[in-house]
Amino acid sequence: MAWERAHVDAEWPVEAIAEHIQALLSLLGEDPTREGLQETPIRVARMFAELTSGYRVDPEKLINEALFTSDYDGMVLVRSMEFYSLCEHHLLPFFGTVHVAYVPNGKIIGLSKIPRIVDMFARRLQVQERLTEQIANFLEEVLEPKGVAVAIDAAHLCAIMRGVRKEQARMVTQVVRGVFREDLNLRQEWRAWIQQTASPVPWLPGGVS
Ligand SMILES: [Zn+2]
Repeated sequence: MAWERAHVDAEWPVEAIAEHIQALLSLLGEDPTREGLQETPIRVARMFAELTSGYRVDPEKLINEALFTSDYDGMVLVRSMEFYSLCEHHLLPFFGTVHVAYVPNGKIIGLSKIPRIVDMFARRLQVQERLTEQIANFLEEVLEPKGVAVAIDAAHLCAIMRGVRKEQARMVTQVVRGVFREDLNLRQEWRAWIQQTASPVPWLPGGVS
């Protein structure tokens, strides 16, 4: 399969992670026994379970009973879905909006499933390029559509808080396949729709350009 599955049946190791967070706090020069930090290791361990829950989603269960046959042959577009992910290089958040479109080839998927597919891949350690491709790959394999397009517009805290400190910088990635690549009119229609969307982060101007 083009999508990776991992730790599906694993028990979440809260205690072990908490011990490491506690050690990290000490190494940072903090006193992990002081009042404000006493519960931090266990909180962080539970938080990571949530932020990486995409590894433990079963893709077959996710789409279960949500595929339907349809004669509809126009574009299906779900735009401006917010997402939150973790950059695998710094473990800092990157977040913004995802736009997903496909042109069916006899099969459609329930609307509520598309945000869940996004979360399944976003809630992992990621790079934006791979996240974009994994969403497109998954839809291609499940729907065998005439075409699929995925665009992500995101701000990366590792570029904003540290390093180059470019507060305005956002990264835009896009994958277009099948009819979205071949049919220029369709591609322009897709671009026109996603250009009308707001910024993924309120303090940053603009949308996909
Ligand atoms: Zn990073």
